[in-house]
Amino acid sequence: MPDLKPSPRRKPKPKSKPAIPAKAVGRAVRARTPKPIDNATVIEIFRRFHAADPEPKGELEHTNPYTLLVAVALSAQSTDVGVNKATRNLFPVADTPQKMLDLGEAGLRERIRTLNFFNTKAKNVIAAAKRLVEEFNGKVPDSVEVLETLPGVGRKTASVVVNIAFRNPRIAVDTHIFRVTNRIPLAITKTPLDTQVALEALIPDEYLLHAHHWLILHGRYICKARRPECWRCPINDLCRYPDKTIP
Ligand code: SF4
Repeated sequence: MPDLKPSPRRKPKPKSKPAIPAKAVGRAVRARTPKPIDNATVIEIFRRFHAADPEPKGELEHTNPYTLLVAVALSAQSTDVGVNKATRNLFPVADTPQKMLDLGEAGLRERIRTLNFFNTKAKNVIAAAKRLVEEFNGKVPDSVEVLETLPGVGRKTASVVVNIAFRNPRIAVDTHIFRVTNRIPLAITKTPLDTQVALEALIPDEYLLHAHHWLILHGRYICKARRPECWRCPINDLCRYPDKTIP
């Protein structure tokens, strides 16, 4: 006869404690997160950016608002250098929405096939060109909210376009701006949208139009993701990043 007695229940093993309790990690991280800098320091930072480069320029080549829109849309997950190489073959034949439609999706695909996601990008650029021709008389709208309704155009692309093409001082938050903002910190934020709202509220009007380029170029060439080059940073005496690389 099999033994039908229930086997004694095993005591559950005590859960092993993490080496560092989560609360303690949270406390340590908070202790290392500096408070955002004050207004006077924000002004000084942008005064220095302005003094070093009064008219900063983006690095995407374009000839009009439409080619800017296309270049920015193509730059997702691709470098500006790669986009410029591709658009040098594209814009001479398609620098308006109608010419882009005349070139067609296959022709566009051929010219941008060196870029990541070129199939999806070609589809979106053609669909956007169709809408621009049919609903906007071939013109690029100057509103972020309207631009965002075009295929393949998100908030970041729309903000870059209105900033550069229409001098509307919007800040398009990319990975560089997000990192630099939170390192200095100009603001402590969790999402690109939070960052955009915070920066547009705190940067003085006189610096707002160019703040986008100053922060991107600063992040791309000095405040780099892996190893910021703090020793040659023009604002290193104002920055509170705890892991500054100053020899
Ligand atoms: S000091 Fe370093 S971390 Fe701070 S903004 Fe400059 S490069 Fe970035």
